[in-house]
Amino acid sequence: MGLLTGSGRSEVAPVPAERVVLKKFHSARYLQTLRNAARGHWDNEALDMGIGTLDCPVFAGMYDYPVLAVGATLTASKLILSGSADVAFNPSGGFHHAGPERAAGFCYINDVALACIVLAEAGKRVLYIDVDVHHGDGVAYAFYDRNGVMTISFHQDPRTLFPGTGFEHEIGTGKGKGYCINVPLPVGTYDQAYMGAFEAVALPLMTAYNPDVFVFELGADALAGDPLAYLHLTNNVYVDVINHLLTFDKPILMTGGGGYNLDNTVRAWSLAWTVLSGADSNHALGHPVGGVMLESTDWQGGLRDRALAVSKQQRSMVEPAVQATIQAVKAKVFPIHGL
Ligand SMILES: [Zn+2]
Repeated sequence: MGLLTGSGRSEVAPVPAERVVLKKFHSARYLQTLRNAARGHWDNEALDMGIGTLDCPVFAGMYDYPVLAVGATLTASKLILSGSADVAFNPSGGFHHAGPERAAGFCYINDVALACIVLAEAGKRVLYIDVDVHHGDGVAYAFYDRNGVMTISFHQDPRTLFPGTGFEHEIGTGKGKGYCINVPLPVGTYDQAYMGAFEAVALPLMTAYNPDVFVFELGADALAGDPLAYLHLTNNVYVDVINHLLTFDKPILMTGGGGYNLDNTVRAWSLAWTVLSGADSNHALGHPVGGVMLESTDWQGGLRDRALAVSKQQRSMVEPAVQATIQAVKAKVFPIHGL
């Protein structure tokens, strides 16, 4: 589609992440265990770290691959720090479940936590926003007791989905109290309800926090038709979220994340990059046909999804739960920020 070149856009080759940088989040013991597993040495200690599970299998290149993928996110953070880019996108990033000594949920090395650390160390106020359908636990807990990185995660209700964390009452501790925000959403959440929560919760907090830079984890598994989760969004939500972020006029480091309906995920990321990189002023997007509501997510042409019909029953199940979440977050977190 010509989206990687053109005025002001370029494709940059990633550089493998340096071990010294990886150690800013992961333990040396974990990195060594990961490297050993990649060479065929796997034991109970590795399994205790989540290496060799169904979600995080052992495979050849299991060290080199995440190091390169993470290197791409770190390359993006360097471009942003040097001022040579104001937006950057690493589709092969967003490994938000990895912990300091833990592989989990298809994630071995946490690029987004590392990017936040690197940006914060450079003196930036970082706002991490995560719209993957799963709780961004690895990043949220990395900064749970700190206030130099605010984390906001929108995800499916943890009572119904991996990793089972990310409740409204998890708001950080100590200095970090009020700087971890979780917005759990009920099964069946549709565009209008989602954006209602985003505008009621995320926008005021972003404005109050006034970040220097955004790190944006755009897992596309909250889309309707994803085989692993049960939200009911169209990719128009991502356009709206990105347009909101752009109004802050601050650099945005965007990564991919989950997304298991591959066709829908590819279109969502293409659309997101189109909007983020300012290439959406032409007509190639294929805007949704006004008023057309469909039950299916089958591709109809263009990058944008068509609007999805919302049944009365779905509305009556989703709306009260979303409102309750909004009120809970507002009550717990807003006063800390003078809101
Ligand atoms: Zn996910």
